[in-house]
Amino acid sequence: MRQKLVAGNWKMNLSYPEGLALAHEIAILAGAAQLTPDQPRVVLCPPFIHLFGVAQHLPKAAGFYLGGQNCHQKDSGAYTGEVSATMLRSVGCEYVILGHSERRQYCHETDDLLAQKLKAALAAGLKPIFCVGETLETREADETFEFIGRQLSDGLFHLSNEEFDQVVIAYEPIWAIGTGRTATSAQAQEVHAFIRERIARAYDAEAAQDTTILYGGSANAQNARELFSQPDVDGGLIGGAALKPADFITIIQSF
Ligand code: PEP
Repeated sequence: MRQKLVAGNWKMNLSYPEGLALAHEIAILAGAAQLTPDQPRVVLCPPFIHLFGVAQHLPKAAGFYLGGQNCHQKDSGAYTGEVSATMLRSVGCEYVILGHSERRQYCHETDDLLAQKLKAALAAGLKPIFCVGETLETREADETFEFIGRQLSDGLFHLSNEEFDQVVIAYEPIWAIGTGRTATSAQAQEVHAFIRERIARAYDAEAAQDTTILYGGSANAQNARELFSQPDVDGGLIGGAALKPADFITIIQSF
């Protein structure tokens, strides 16, 4: 069964004390809102150094989980400055974001590298939140489906059925990330339905129905309800609004 899910991507924001304060405030508001476990599931993805501290504030009884924003493809070794999937697991992470467009763009992460990272994450017992999404040029050239189809087949569909079972997909049109320009709910639904159809082709209809597919790109407290009302939108990967505790709780309550 697919899971309703809201993930907060804090990106490279907040000092450690600020991060702890945010987690604490989210926990207090979650308690006040009497959030029910796993309705939806919530994943906080702070910067690496915040993870252990944020874990102490996680309202686990309300269905909150911890995730990394990236991991290295190797498990350990001489890779200065890197963090492995096993390390993330050891501080309590259950999820890891992979293939975010900012990492594809600024860190030159390719589908081939992401395929290795996916394997490493899965081997460590993490659930990858695998991001796909087109640029504005691609959308305007009417090549969105071709582009997303390629990201899925090159980056993701090499996984076995059992491995793929663990994956959450996030559709994040690059032109909507951090721009304040959200995809319409119809645009999001159209691509989500396409992704589900591609999963059915690569695996089977059951896998397609069971895969959680999130929308990301300037989702906020005002537009989340409309986006989440779409039949193939199972939740959101939230950037900017995840740093605003009251807005983030409203988004969680938007199903
Ligand atoms: C993101 O970074 O994954 C994201 C969706 O950011 P924002 O919500 O700020 O557009």
